Amino acid sequence: MSVNTTSFRDSVDRMFTHAAGLMSLAPGLEEKIRVCNSTYTVRFGVRLRGQIHTFTGYRSVHSEHMEPVKGGIRYSLDVNQDEVEALAALMTYKCALVEVPFGGSKGGLCIDPRAWNEDELERITRRFTYELSRRNLISPSQNVPAPDMGTGEREMAWMADAYKRLHPDDINAKACVTGKPRTAGGIDGRVEATGRGVQYALREFFRHDDVMKQAGLTGVLAGKRVIVQGLGNVGYHAAQFLSVEDKCLITGVIERDGAITNPQGINIDALRGHIRATGGVKGFIGGDYHENGLAMLEQECDILIPAAVESVIHADNAERINCKLIIEAANGPVTADADAILRRKGIVIIPDMYANAGGVTVSYFEWVKNLSQISLGRLERRHEEARARMIVEELERLSADTGLNWTLSKGFKEAFLTGADELELVRSGLDDTMRESFKKMKEVWISNPKVEDMRTAAYVVAIRRISNVYNSLGL
Ligand code: GLU
Repeated sequence: MSVNTTSFRDSVDRMFTHAAGLMSLAPGLEEKIRVCNSTYTVRFGVRLRGQIHTFTGYRSVHSEHMEPVKGGIRYSLDVNQDEVEALAALMTYKCALVEVPFGGSKGGLCIDPRAWNEDELERITRRFTYELSRRNLISPSQNVPAPDMGTGEREMAWMADAYKRLHPDDINAKACVTGKPRTAGGIDGRVEATGRGVQYALREFFRHDDVMKQAGLTGVLAGKRVIVQGLGNVGYHAAQFLSVEDKCLITGVIERDGAITNPQGINIDALRGHIRATGGVKGFIGGDYHENGLAMLEQECDILIPAAVESVIHADNAERINCKLIIEAANGPVTADADAILRRKGIVIIPDMYANAGGVTVSYFEWVKNLSQISLGRLERRHEEARARMIVEELERLSADTGLNWTLSKGFKEAFLTGADELELVRSGLDDTMRESFKKMKEVWISNPKVEDMRTAAYVVAIRRISNVYNSLGL
């Protein structure tokens, strides 16, 4: 854990202020964008195991320049006001950067989810939802929570159901929260979305020789040595996709109880199975175990993926970080002090607000799906297939009539004749979002000499978009 004294909130604000200082914003606008609009703290009691237990929860709304506001709900004993406010601010900038039409929000409940059984967690979650609903802090049109650390589909299903019971006449009730299971109105591809977004971000990075050069990287993604910190939902999917689909070598995985390293590459599914079975990485036979996991952040590699909590790379270890590229799958894993040190060392950082935006992007698709009450592709899929079939049949007829006797390869024909299902459409929308946002960041980074890094570029793009909204609102 970080020993630096700057809070997470201060760190985000410093990065914001640095970027805003390079822009000429209308007087007072910088402060309006930076400050957190409101943070609601609730303490509620739930009778469990024969006594009343009091829980503390937060929902912070950073910016309402667009509504609903959006952001996950975290279950962790480390949750506090400073953290939810920092995370809410990052949600504002993230949504603006990837053009998802939401303001920023974040919530948290101070709880160790492993200390309670499923029934207990359900009662706590339903009660928390009730408290949020009373203040419009969960609502399809005003504030739409989603999963974050310690929460997932299960909690979102409980929240959606609790909301629906409180608002039985709201036809859009399902859209009050995203990240729900498919059976409760969720969308295919949401669980993997943040990890998938990390993969798409890296693929896009490796399409640009000029930015790769800045990091001292050459060649292709395949074969690059990657260290991942945190094998939760985000870290697992990123590592799995990068190793299986892009042929990266995952040379290190850092978890709570230590790290596993293997220069030949770690089998991510096998390691995840081991963690599930034993509760940790210790004893995994597919690599070497190191008790001091966090020290492995400093091991040499090409790409470092912090995918757990904030502030793991700080002023005291930044100097020893030994990679070429950091992609921030977690929110805020690099403090503002560390950021400056890494930049000086020539390490390129793909910033959190872009790198992990896959989650909220697919949440947006889910919200749209819920409001439109129809799954993606349902209207067009068979029509698309029928038109593809017409082309194939016409080509085959022409080829027979002219005696050319062409045959379309089986793989091509099958792929061409299959219309896109929801998962394919979600992936296509996510890929497009990651590519376009990267280009916007790059444009600012490369064209403005005052913008020294990709994080500042991301802030500049986000702040410009938010300020445009405020300007058009006449504020
Ligand atoms: N908790 C995720 C994040 O930090 C997802 C938020 C959402 O889908 O609204 O981006």
